[in-house]
Amino acid sequence: MSCAEYLNDLNVQQRAAVEYISGPELVIAGAGSGKTRVLTYKIVHLLAQHFEPGRIMALTFTNKAAKEMRERVEVLTGSTTARRLWMGTFHSIFSRILRRNAELIGYNANYTIYDQTDARNAVKMIIRDLELDEKVYKPATVQDDISRAKNYLLSPQDYALDRDIQQADRRANRPQTAEIYRIYMNRCRVANAMDFDDLLYYTAVLFRDHPDVLSHFCEFFRYILVVDYQDTNFAQNMIVMQLCRGIGNICVVGDDAQSIYSFRGANIRNILDLQRAFPTLETFKLEQNYRSTQNIVNAANSLIAHNRDQIRKNVFSENGVGDKIEVSQAYSDYDEAGVVAARIVSRRAVTGDAFSDFAILYRTNAQSRVLEEALRRRNIPYRIYGGLAFYQRKEVKDALAYFHLGINPNDDECVRRIINTPARGIGKVTIEKLNHAAIEAESSLWQVLCDPDRFNVDLNSGTKAKLLKFRQLIDSFTSKINRENDVEALAKHIITATGLAAMYMSDRTPENISKYENLMELIAGAHTYMQDRLEAGEGEECSMGDFLTNVALATDQDKDNEENTNSVTLMTIHAAKGLEFNNIFVVGVEDELIPSRMSSDSAAGVEEERRLFYVAITRAKNFCMLSYAQQRFLNGQTIFSRCSRFLQDIDTEYLTGDVAKRKPARPAFEPEAAAPRHTPSQFTSASRKPASDSSFRKYSKDELELKMRIAHPKFGRGEIINFLHTNLGDGIIVLFDNESDPRKLLLQYANIRIINE
Ligand code: ATP
Ligand code: MG
Repeated sequence: MSCAEYLNDLNVQQRAAVEYISGPELVIAGAGSGKTRVLTYKIVHLLAQHFEPGRIMALTFTNKAAKEMRERVEVLTGSTTARRLWMGTFHSIFSRILRRNAELIGYNANYTIYDQTDARNAVKMIIRDLELDEKVYKPATVQDDISRAKNYLLSPQDYALDRDIQQADRRANRPQTAEIYRIYMNRCRVANAMDFDDLLYYTAVLFRDHPDVLSHFCEFFRYILVVDYQDTNFAQNMIVMQLCRGIGNICVVGDDAQSIYSFRGANIRNILDLQRAFPTLETFKLEQNYRSTQNIVNAANSLIAHNRDQIRKNVFSENGVGDKIEVSQAYSDYDEAGVVAARIVSRRAVTGDAFSDFAILYRTNAQSRVLEEALRRRNIPYRIYGGLAFYQRKEVKDALAYFHLGINPNDDECVRRIINTPARGIGKVTIEKLNHAAIEAESSLWQVLCDPDRFNVDLNSGTKAKLLKFRQLIDSFTSKINRENDVEALAKHIITATGLAAMYMSDRTPENISKYENLMELIAGAHTYMQDRLEAGEGEECSMGDFLTNVALATDQDKDNEENTNSVTLMTIHAAKGLEFNNIFVVGVEDELIPSRMSSDSAAGVEEERRLFYVAITRAKNFCMLSYAQQRFLNGQTIFSRCSRFLQDIDTEYLTGDVAKRKPARPAFEPEAAAPRHTPSQFTSASRKPASDSSFRKYSKDELELKMRIAHPKFGRGEIINFLHTNLGDGIIVLFDNESDPRKLLLQYANIRIINE
């Protein structure tokens, strides 16, 4: 493609932003206005200007974003040079920098990357070792505190000396958090392991303590590009600032209205502060939304206008006016799911869209199960994006622990995980003893178990023999891994030699079969990894260590992509950032979900949730439906919900459907005027929103007739098609509008109400 041609794909402002390469640049733009496009084209432009691909760094927040940009650049340039770009998530790019300099910060280049669960287990262990109350020192909470500290680049010492933090910890009854943090850092170092936050923390430390390394990278990278800058946290911002100090060739794009990660320490101010960091900063604004219809853009604008804290933008669309946003009120989460599934079917019939043009967005992962059921009932193919956890499954984690130990036997988490899996007669007591000795001597479990006598561990000869065998097994993996690059063969060997595969094969229950299949899938993963590397011309970089880094960094989203290309996508709103679909369903638009109960307490919290809702709506190109239910099953109990206050924020002229019902502050689901009112039977005035459901009650057979329309709190609306008598009493058979098969309801249990419609 000739130089000028790709520039024709851009509007005037986008083009100006792409062509500007004479200094620091900020592109601030609304949703769907081409931020990602500008960044992608900018890379193409840099390549056309003969910047070396290997010296351009492009940072994203998800692997998916990096992958899509890379593919796009390949298409536009018609070459594979894009593979040489330093393009990836902050974590993966920084990990690359750290591996080359690990020794400088007291690590070994083979360090393991702990995922959330590994890290949490390590924290939990320390809490136990310190004999603290796990109910006060909740591992997840402590882990969060540590994570936040690292994201603000606070070392354990800084943490312990910070008066505000100390006060807060004392108030929370957790004065020992600083100590846990200190021990955690030490143990990770001894285990040669880093958690995700460490990848940022240590990069910053590396640059701080080794100016020569920093200068090298400053010199090396000719251009640095960052997407979604509104979501960078303190550490990320600091590192980027350090890196582009020399040349100032930096281009960041962002949208303050889409900042949704403050709970992880993201700070919108980072965008605003760029001006101070770079007095010569050139700012470009993009305001034309190319993604969505006018109705959707206008609705989203009217919503976000309620946020005080924002950079004003005039986002507009020149696409068609489009359909209004549909608002749907359902009786229950179950009913809501049925409505959504039905709407997907009817919408497809009209538009001819593929299933993959539909996405259902929710606030929390737990909401997916009911939706899945509804989709399955209608035979609608779907996939859960980001919810999986292939790599979280026990058998997979066990196998990976062995892989890790072959490279880095000092990884205590891994040793603990599999020292007696499959069972080899090394019991709890032995492990406790080893653990104790390791803590005493500040060494790893591995060091202790290799030479228990030296550490004065009191073990009988039988146990020692078992430990020796375990040691030999791991040693044999280490030497094999050092000799061989064939990751697939290594994986196969280890899974067999450990007896993991045999363990699940011996007792062929359905669970064991699927566990065995997962292990096989892991080998298949190693195969694909090698294949990809070979095809990318990076065959010599294949190694078990590299494979494991890949696994640790890949979010499960990458895996999902390859499969089921024609299916409806289910995901959290957070995961949807940056994506677009013809049809978007936002479900659970209720107070307590969005805004979540936790964030409703503070104005800033509510504003963040409003931005999140804004992100959700702006994913839609042509069609958007917002639904809420009057009751749902949440965290193990049925709660009565009311529609989100954010529905009020949207101008009615862009909405249709159950709009009038979206009354705030009062229960959303007051009985419709036409419906008969009944005295509450089961809801006392103490229940949270009593008035609302008062019209559901138990009926006797005499009150009901054939063909009568009724509503049920869970299944929604339907028609009585028959009566029946059972030994448990009278019943009715109802065909609900959103179900294909009739359903039997026993009158002595079912709460329903008659509706006139
Ligand atoms: P988000 O805020 O959601 O991340 P964004 O600002 O990154 O959005 P893009 O994803 O780059 O926006 O663009 C949104 C859609 O508009 C994409 O489908 C893109 O291809 C299209 N688009 C952007 N600019 C143009 C243009 N100049 N001409 C045609 N289509 C465009
Ligand atoms: Mg984008």
